[in-house]
Amino acid sequence: MYCKCGRQTLLKEVFCTGCKEKLIEGLASIEHDQWAYWAKGLMESEKNISPERLKRWKELTKIPYGFLSEEAQDVDRKLARRVMDYLKDFFCESK
Ligand SMILES: [Zn+2]
Repeated sequence: MYCKCGRQTLLKEVFCTGCKEKLIEGLASIEHDQWAYWAKGLMESEKNISPERLKRWKELTKIPYGFLSEEAQDVDRKLARRVMDYLKDFFCESK
């Protein structure tokens, strides 16, 4: 198969390795934005959040994905890979 960029992909892959990594980072960044949006809403409406969590969330929601710790970025990457797996299945099924 050929990637959108023209490079040949590995067997059963929709994207080449370079594009796949780029996509995972982009999707992971969106995952973080979605989490931050959700967390901000919850911090406003929920009164029973522990002070420790509130402090941690307030800090984390202000940090853009690219500036998170490697550990925190990995949590978002894990979700991004789930989207990639979904896309892979989607593209393969539609062939
Ligand atoms: Zn590519």
